[in-house]
Amino acid sequence: MGSSSVYKCRHCGHRFISMGGGNIVVSGCTESHLCQDCNTVFERLIKSGDYNYKEGDPKENPNCAQCDSLNILPWKQSDGCPLCQGGLKATPTCCEVV
Ligand SMILES: [Zn+2]
Ligand SMILES: [Zn+2]
Repeated sequence: MGSSSVYKCRHCGHRFISMGGGNIVVSGCTESHLCQDCNTVFERLIKSGDYNYKEGDPKENPNCAQCDSLNILPWKQSDGCPLCQGGLKATPTCCEVV
């Protein structure tokens, strides 16, 4: 799998996990997208090749993973916090202390 990071907003403290942009994963290629309806960043599989869907993989469809909205935009870390557009601090999930 690609490497995901925990993003934390320096402004409002909002915290979420994303791969933070384009990523090659075992099953293909994902891009991070932002749902404008529920402000959720999620991974969307955009190219699959030889692909066998497994439970838990990003799905190859354009709908929001949370609310099924089609009102989504590509998202990258430099776009900032999905709630307030504040700056984000990224920590690799493996280093995140819970
Ligand atoms: Zn924020
Ligand atoms: Zn949504």
